[in-house]
Amino acid sequence: MFRSVLALLCAAAPVPLLAQSVGPPVDPQVAALRDAALADDYAWDIVEGLTTEVGPRLAGTPAEARARAWAVAKLFGLGFSNIRVEPFELPVWVRGEEKAEIVAPFPQPLVITALGNSGATPPQGIVAEVVGFDSMEEFAASPAEAVRGKIVFVSHAMPANQDGSGYGLFGAPRRQGPTLASKRGAAAIVIRSIGTDHHRNPHTGVQEFADGAAPIPAGALSIPDAEQLQRILKRARGPVTMRLTMTPRNIGVRRSGNVIAELPGRDRAAAPILVGCHLDSWDLGTGAVDDGAGCAIVAAAAKRIMDAGQPLRTIRIVWFGAEEVGLFGGLDYQKKHGAEPHYAVAESDFGADRIWKVDSKLGEARKAEAKALQRALAPLGIVPGSLTEADGSDIGPLIAAGVPAVGLNQDGTRYFDLHHTPDDTLDKIDIAQLRQNVAAWTAMLAILSGGIEPEPKPLQRKRR
Ligand code: ZN
Ligand code: ZN
Repeated sequence: MFRSVLALLCAAAPVPLLAQSVGPPVDPQVAALRDAALADDYAWDIVEGLTTEVGPRLAGTPAEARARAWAVAKLFGLGFSNIRVEPFELPVWVRGEEKAEIVAPFPQPLVITALGNSGATPPQGIVAEVVGFDSMEEFAASPAEAVRGKIVFVSHAMPANQDGSGYGLFGAPRRQGPTLASKRGAAAIVIRSIGTDHHRNPHTGVQEFADGAAPIPAGALSIPDAEQLQRILKRARGPVTMRLTMTPRNIGVRRSGNVIAELPGRDRAAAPILVGCHLDSWDLGTGAVDDGAGCAIVAAAAKRIMDAGQPLRTIRIVWFGAEEVGLFGGLDYQKKHGAEPHYAVAESDFGADRIWKVDSKLGEARKAEAKALQRALAPLGIVPGSLTEADGSDIGPLIAAGVPAVGLNQDGTRYFDLHHTPDDTLDKIDIAQLRQNVAAWTAMLAILSGGIEPEPKPLQRKRR
């Protein structure tokens, strides 16, 4: 087998294979900054500080406000300029009591958590028959009257994979299940958590009742509990009944905000490079991998550029607010700054594991820059990806409007083990992989910022 593959490679064309790795050498300044960042301590300090001193920070709550205050102080302490909070408002939903148990035929408790914007049961809960479906497609294809007055259960088969693409496909029970269940008159819906672990931790996440569907209780069972419910449904000779108690509530319109800080460039007229993450988190864990790590990575990279001198273009850090509950921060930024030019945008919001692929969408005229980025990242084990596509959640509206973008794609193999669970805590971050992220972001900023002047001018410090 090995010999035939080798023969094929030799016969095919060894020259083009070699030629792919050849190009102009990486700028020595970029390479030096990249390699030094492999010993970075800034990122760990930021994510440790945020998750320890603030902890969970649900959008629109006092905890998220404390996170903004922490962020302003931290970014000021690191020496960034033009630090400000741009406030906006959003409706806020908070968790209450959440319990599920099988009443018959095999009485036992199940581990559940409410999905964002879930409706509430009465305080004593509801008891109803469970109707199970193996997928969202099976639920959608079932007769509408099959679930009236009942508790819908929807499973799925999300696999773990490197690029996280299963989240889009298998996230449907969470995103569309509650609306469909409500429209069909179901009493409630419980889904198998959108996750890939086998721990007894349920995964929360946002969903919205669309098209006028009235809120009904909507929860996610931990994956072992969802599998237990599937077995119960299979073995039961008669109806399976569940008692479900969930008492979340809407507390009205509250304030959130985007925290913005800059490393001013030598050319103040040049369009800035935006690097982002989201500061808010779900309430179950401490938001270490989602997305404290992202905020730590982008700020650490910008700080390393600052330590080296002054870039040509301004680097703008945006720690977006209220991402988890509906991308409010990204939409607010787009509304306030979408008409301004941006040289490029990039966001870190996929954990803290190593970056494995670089995508960019800088346009045909900047292909040489995109290729230089690919070459600079290759020694970190990062493979070249698309030259015409890059994405990000909060920066999505900017990218959709045509703003050039870079995507530094992290390995998502274990991301959905932790995502939106009580297990999203600092100890899950591998510092070596976190540093690899900082090295890649530092190299990216070194290239896109247009060259760093080694002698830094004294930076003006302003706190608004
Ligand atoms: Zn996130
Ligand atoms: Zn998230």
